[in-house]
Amino acid sequence: MQNLTQLKERLADIHNINTAMALLNWDQQTYMPPGGANIRAAQFGTLSKIAHEMFVSPETGRLLAAAEAEGKDLDYDSDDAALLRVARRDYDQETKIPTDLVVEFAQVTTLAYEEWHKARANNDYAHFAPWLSKIIDLNRRRAEYLGYTDHPYDALLDLFEPGMKTAQVKTIFDELKAAQIPLVHAIASQIDTVDNAILKRDYDEKKQEAFGIEVAKRLGYDFQRGRLDRAVHPFTNGTGRGDVRITTRYNRHWLPESLFGTIHESGHALYEQGTGESLENTLLGTGASLGIHESQSRLWENLVGRSLGFWKFFFPRLREVFPEALHDVDLETFYRAINRVEPSLIRVEADEVTYNLHIIIRFEMELGLLSGEISVADAPAAWNAKYQEYLGVTPPDDAKGILQDVHWSGGAMGYFPTYTLGNLMSVQFFNKAVQEIPTIPAQIERGEFGDLLAWLQRNIYVHGRKYLPAELVQRVTGGPMQAGPYIAYLRQKYGAIYAL
Ligand code: ZN
Repeated sequence: MQNLTQLKERLADIHNINTAMALLNWDQQTYMPPGGANIRAAQFGTLSKIAHEMFVSPETGRLLAAAEAEGKDLDYDSDDAALLRVARRDYDQETKIPTDLVVEFAQVTTLAYEEWHKARANNDYAHFAPWLSKIIDLNRRRAEYLGYTDHPYDALLDLFEPGMKTAQVKTIFDELKAAQIPLVHAIASQIDTVDNAILKRDYDEKKQEAFGIEVAKRLGYDFQRGRLDRAVHPFTNGTGRGDVRITTRYNRHWLPESLFGTIHESGHALYEQGTGESLENTLLGTGASLGIHESQSRLWENLVGRSLGFWKFFFPRLREVFPEALHDVDLETFYRAINRVEPSLIRVEADEVTYNLHIIIRFEMELGLLSGEISVADAPAAWNAKYQEYLGVTPPDDAKGILQDVHWSGGAMGYFPTYTLGNLMSVQFFNKAVQEIPTIPAQIERGEFGDLLAWLQRNIYVHGRKYLPAELVQRVTGGPMQAGPYIAYLRQKYGAIYAL
């Protein structure tokens, strides 16, 4: 297995460059003084060029082909067989797109990001429209090089959710839509039965931070292999299972911001910290996909962190930390407040019930824009019509409408569906865990999360990137990805809260 050994050494070198960049990125978003921006951009340019050139070089291709020949009899579930599968996927993906398109993509999106910022600040869609046209064109060309059988969107989706097909997403989303639109409308007619004003009282930021750390530790996030810092746009990254850093942001008059943000990022971090030791410093030592990753942040944030059982344990603690703000609030009132549903315009502020509709709108817009069924000029009107139809709200302007998200300006089309796929899988995984360990809900009420975490580690985390999302869902739940369990979860939880 001489070629396999050499291939692993080469991939480890590339991985070291990539993880060094991850730390530079962490630093940029947390502690770097503004004056460091230019040299930091130059550092990224140099390092990403070296890593890319090493990875797509003919030498890597030769080693990969030779290692595949050596490893053809390896057990499918072995680390080495999985490494060869993933390396092949990544290599083919990165070498299919010609370098001049990669360069053009980077140049256009760097400029488009700046122009999107201006367009959003000035509520000026016309300013961004030519950039959106360029990005759609680049993505069409990218899809042609990557290849697809049914729809160009398949090729783009595959970059974020390997193996997932557009037709599959469409079927799942249509089922969700049919269930969620009536549910949102039913809740909207009862909207005033739940109030969340108590969450806007005065919550000292230092105390929020201390409480967030207490919760994260209790969930099982290992601070010997992680840390919590502040960032404008919260994220999780690091160098692999031994160093997984989370970030959050605080709002003195909106408790959920840091509280659920910290639990969300802890979910991502628990996944990364739980990847197998043997996978460290390889292509496999991270999550299986964006969707699977999001299934874990959402599982911990929503199914655990927004459950009544969780707050049976933590609410008395929270009231000790914030006696003034919460002295006249009981558990039930708090639970209802943190689960208030409100159809709104902004995706990142959306609740569990409306969130998927924001995503479905973006998915349908992306399909229409790529196929040409929706023109760039007509896109804001199409966007607004969908908001009215699905959520019953109409954006007053494009800044609160089609210009709100950063993703398209960065060139990412095919990314949005992963958020909703994560939501769906979070329920499928959690149900399976509870089916196998029925005491999990009672444990959560006692502030004990060890059995749940161990189950997730054993069944999902330890495998890192060894399996495709669909394979993982099949292995864990015995079936495919489905909308049904999520719909049942929403109906049960919110039917009780809103007396539907
Ligand atoms: Zn996330």
